[in-house]
Amino acid sequence: MLVATELKGELARIHPARTCCQRAELAGLLYAGRTRAGVSTLDHATARVAVQLAGTLGIPVEPRRLAARPSARALRARRHLQVAFDPQLAAGWRWAEGKPCDRRAFLRGVLLSGSVSLTSSGPHVEFVLAGAAQARDLRRRLAEMSVRASAHLRRGRHVVYVKGREQLGQLLRLTGANRALLDLEAESVAREVRNRVNRLLNAEEANLGRTVRAADRQLQAIARLEARGELARLPDALRETATRRRRQPDADLDALSAALGVSRSAVNHRLRRLVALADEERDDPKEPA
Ligand SMILES: [Zn+2]
Repeated sequence: MLVATELKGELARIHPARTCCQRAELAGLLYAGRTRAGVSTLDHATARVAVQLAGTLGIPVEPRRLAARPSARALRARRHLQVAFDPQLAAGWRWAEGKPCDRRAFLRGVLLSGSVSLTSSGPHVEFVLAGAAQARDLRRRLAEMSVRASAHLRRGRHVVYVKGREQLGQLLRLTGANRALLDLEAESVAREVRNRVNRLLNAEEANLGRTVRAADRQLQAIARLEARGELARLPDALRETATRRRRQPDADLDALSAALGVSRSAVNHRLRRLVALADEERDDPKEPA
């Protein structure tokens, strides 16, 4: 299963060696998680990455804000962690001039500030952005890296999301989340198998239900014919079929056909005949055919 804390933990353990990649990843973190005073995040892993990257790049981080326990108000606002530094010092990296390694690092930063949710159709990752222009910009950047994202407005907030095994898989692959990628694929396969088994079971159950209901109707019909003294007077073929049905109440047409040594359609015809005869009005003087 794709779990946000595990995904972010995995992303946080990737330490880009080159300065270009480090700058790009910090730019990614600031892209969606930026506040006036640095990076704001719900995730410890994300905060850790911000501290490490800023530290490696020689950007001073305000330690006081980090050590502080979140206030009740901050918790309510769902903004637990502030990594305070001057975002201007981290500015300067540009997507348009970014090398492939840096674009991947940028997306890793963006992914670290996103959220993962599970829907009935599988996991999806989403990013809340500052406005329509930024939402468009992120979708364009993702598209340039072969990730198709969608956007919608939710309660006035611009949300970009990536869902589906292929698109999400591509995003995880790009950002180096190999463990999460394996989980996603295993999960997709497991879901497919589960769905297939359920479909088969449902079909099987429906068939079984039909067979059982038909057999019930036939057994009741045979009992009524017997009670009316008509069973003994029926032609041999019908009597044999009635006896066989009573002996094998759960058998389907194939089994009855094999037991009686006649075709499936002949068995079907005889059973229908038995039910029809039993359903005829009792006061109908007509002899059964
Ligand atoms: Zn790089």
